Amino acid sequence: MKQSQLFTKTLKESPKDEVSINAQLLTKAGFVYKEMAGVYSYLPLGLKVMEKIKDIIREELNNVGSQEIKMTTLQSKDIWEKTNRWSDDIVDNWFKTKLKNNKELGLAFTHEEPLTNIMKNFVSSYKDLPLYVYQFQTKFRNELRAKSGIMRGREFPMKDLYSFSLNKKEHDKFYELMKGVYKKIFDRVGIGEMTYLTMSDGQPFSKYSFEFQTLTEAGEDIILYDDKKKIAVNKDDYSDEIFSDLGFDQKDFNFKEGKASEVGDIYSLGEKYSKALGLMYTDKDGKSHPVYMGSYGIGISRLMGTIVEVYHDEKGIIWPKEVAPYQVHLLALGEDSIKEADKLYGDLQKNSIEVLYDDRLNISAGEKFADCDLIGVPIRLVVSQKTLKEKNVEYKKREEKEVSLVKLKKVLKKLEAKD
Ligand code: ATP
Ligand code: MG
Repeated sequence: MKQSQLFTKTLKESPKDEVSINAQLLTKAGFVYKEMAGVYSYLPLGLKVMEKIKDIIREELNNVGSQEIKMTTLQSKDIWEKTNRWSDDIVDNWFKTKLKNNKELGLAFTHEEPLTNIMKNFVSSYKDLPLYVYQFQTKFRNELRAKSGIMRGREFPMKDLYSFSLNKKEHDKFYELMKGVYKKIFDRVGIGEMTYLTMSDGQPFSKYSFEFQTLTEAGEDIILYDDKKKIAVNKDDYSDEIFSDLGFDQKDFNFKEGKASEVGDIYSLGEKYSKALGLMYTDKDGKSHPVYMGSYGIGISRLMGTIVEVYHDEKGIIWPKEVAPYQVHLLALGEDSIKEADKLYGDLQKNSIEVLYDDRLNISAGEKFADCDLIGVPIRLVVSQKTLKEKNVEYKKREEKEVSLVKLKKVLKKLEAKD
């Protein structure tokens, strides 16, 4: 992508109405546009990051046999009444609207009810189970506060997966598997090290559940975590009972306290929804049973915002390689370097190296460097008359200070070497 053609521009100043670092940096660098508090549009760079995150998640979920679908935002109230989740007294963050004929509709804040209802059409025998179904979909929640930038939205993208199993035993196996799948996902997007499997309250579905909490000052939760044993408890839900139920001995742990962001969670739902909505199967002997369910969420924008909170410095974002919008940011300094830089840009593209190319004329070297640090692509390449004199290009990693010179001829090899 040529930067001269990218319609977004970086801002000189951080937006004054943003208090969170993620929204400040993402807005300043042109990844997102704020429509209103808690409601963001994703611009070309932001969309690229989001799609990379989704692709990683999709790959890991497909690997364990899940199937992707996409459900609707508009929801009619009857199925939600059956599970007692329509009332604003029970669910306090509904957005609701009406049809012309005054029939009430809701904008989905989650999808247990509609998917259970869909599954009634396809599940009837034990032979149909287990099933794992997921989607990437926009959720609507009328959140009281929205001050965490893209980490807490009123309209936001979520990955939600639902499991349908024969019984608790079969469910528990998949639930354990998903702990590992989530760990892999958070490792791959670059925050594995500071993300903790965190015990928390499971109400209203079960006694306890697990969250995936990433340590960051920008988080809205507080966890007690053991960094050697890599396990944590949500401080809100901390109780001796949770521990003994799960077979842990508190004496074995050395807990520190820290702020954290809940990037995902996994729930055992049991038979609550299947019973309420009548999702039943018959076993080998013709006996009828409710399906045993689980739900597994990841907040896509919460995750993206958390990555920015964890990886930035005073100059801008420092994207982990796997989710970076581009792998290389090529800067041409001075008009007399454009010809060689164009050539290198072409070579990088031919070799499928994702490159953002700052080919803009009449922009100072200082501005180009500042934009490059702000946008946060992992590798910076600079071509100027000075480097070209010796047929070199300057190479620098975003997170490092040192620059090095690489021969133009050898730069492709260096980029292709995985380090
Ligand atoms: P929170 O406690 O932060 O409000 P939650 O537990 O109510 O979240 P879930 O219903 O479990 O959220 O949603 C699954 C995931 O979606 C969460 O783990 C989180 O990563 C993300 N998420 C929840 N609410 C928001 C929001 N308002 N904006 C962005 N992401 C969100
Ligand atoms: Mg949760």
